[in-house]
Amino acid sequence: MINKDEIIKSNRTLRDVSELKEVMWLNPRLTAYEEAAEKINMDVSAIDDAKGRLDKFAPLIEILFPETKISRGIIESPLKEINNMKNKLVSSYETEISGRLLLKMDSHLAIAGSVKARGGIYEVLKYAEQLALKSNMIKESDDYSILAQQKYRDFFNRYKIQVGSTGNLGLSIGITSAALGFNVTVHMSSDAKQWKKDLLRSKGAQVVEYDSDFSKAVEEGRKLSDQDPMSYFVDDENSMNLFLGYAVAASRLKKQLDEMNITVDEDHPMFVYLPCGVGGAPGGITYGLKSIFKDNVHCFFVEPVHAPSMLIGMATGLHNDICVQDLGIDGITHADGLAVGRPSKLVGKMMDYVLGGIFTTDDYKLYDNMRYLHDTEGIDIEPSACAAFEGAVKMQNSEEGKKYITEHKLKDKLGNAVHIAWATGGKLVPEEINRQFLATHLN
Ligand SMILES: *Cc1c(COP(=O)(O)O)cnc(C)c1O
Repeated sequence: MINKDEIIKSNRTLRDVSELKEVMWLNPRLTAYEEAAEKINMDVSAIDDAKGRLDKFAPLIEILFPETKISRGIIESPLKEINNMKNKLVSSYETEISGRLLLKMDSHLAIAGSVKARGGIYEVLKYAEQLALKSNMIKESDDYSILAQQKYRDFFNRYKIQVGSTGNLGLSIGITSAALGFNVTVHMSSDAKQWKKDLLRSKGAQVVEYDSDFSKAVEEGRKLSDQDPMSYFVDDENSMNLFLGYAVAASRLKKQLDEMNITVDEDHPMFVYLPCGVGGAPGGITYGLKSIFKDNVHCFFVEPVHAPSMLIGMATGLHNDICVQDLGIDGITHADGLAVGRPSKLVGKMMDYVLGGIFTTDDYKLYDNMRYLHDTEGIDIEPSACAAFEGAVKMQNSEEGKKYITEHKLKDKLGNAVHIAWATGGKLVPEEINRQFLATHLN
């Protein structure tokens, strides 16, 4: 049993968290890269393998999703400097953001319009490959574009894929699975937005709705899938495939930074702020980034004050044995993509020695920041994705942030820094809903 009083008595940050205050939690186990990589058994070749598989599937993606024609079937998002937004944040929050502020626009990824396009699509492709290889329908040396042919669609149609989701993972898995010919069922929590359910159904996916939160939708989905030998369950909390699909983002980002002549090295630190739900997407991306930039990248998650699941899991070391309700937190937030009460243990353990820390943010700021970005840069992203800006705002302007900067001897290098706000979703939000978001004021 979780003893709330004991937990909040022993840890001031967790007490603040339980009182729904914004915090920055610094990870006390953060360790220099070489040692950390050993401790978590970091396997860089697994990330390369995932990247290779995505490259191999690119000709198929190009056929199934014509919008990827211009990138030849590679699903990647723009990296954009947002200097006007930087100035807006600095003046609105009376803070300092030294160096450059960039937006990584996974909000505009092809097919799924969110960061889930990375992990979700990879997971479905890997499963399809595995099935087709095992049944001798393809050889590894084949050009995988043949998988668009009707006989493969008929083959995949005998199988079912199921997933539990707050929305965006469902979109990613649902759209990809249906495009390959699979039967697909998405189990959606009460946070999931109606338009996401409608969109999925229009693509041929089955949607099952629950009155409960994400963890329950996952549990029910898994149970139903386990009863069916022809069904595969995509497990957002424990999937290494999803995680590796996300990790591929890192080498792609490196290439984009190179193209923009942005250096990341000992004298040019990079700070990355990632909105976090169950942990898979920000965790996978962090894993990939650390493998490339090592001690020169500083990764931070951002969670809503009403759903700080990864923070409480990592800070207590209890991982998925604790949920936000154990600390008296309701788990109800406007950030539907981050509305997760219980974190992933797989990810928590992987992050133990590499994650810099975790910020929490009030919901009202998500809408404020969404408006700021819309007004200053003409870019629309969804409220959940706007959590990233809280990291940029607080890094140099909070007690803990300053402590981190001092401890890592970054003070003199801040002028050379690059900050990346990871915009995790938005493109598929219907015009009308986007207008409603922009008009929402919570404070
Ligand atoms: C899913 C999601 C995240 C976080 O990903 P997790 O794997 O759940 O941590 C962040 N932003 C958006 C918009 C999402 O849909």
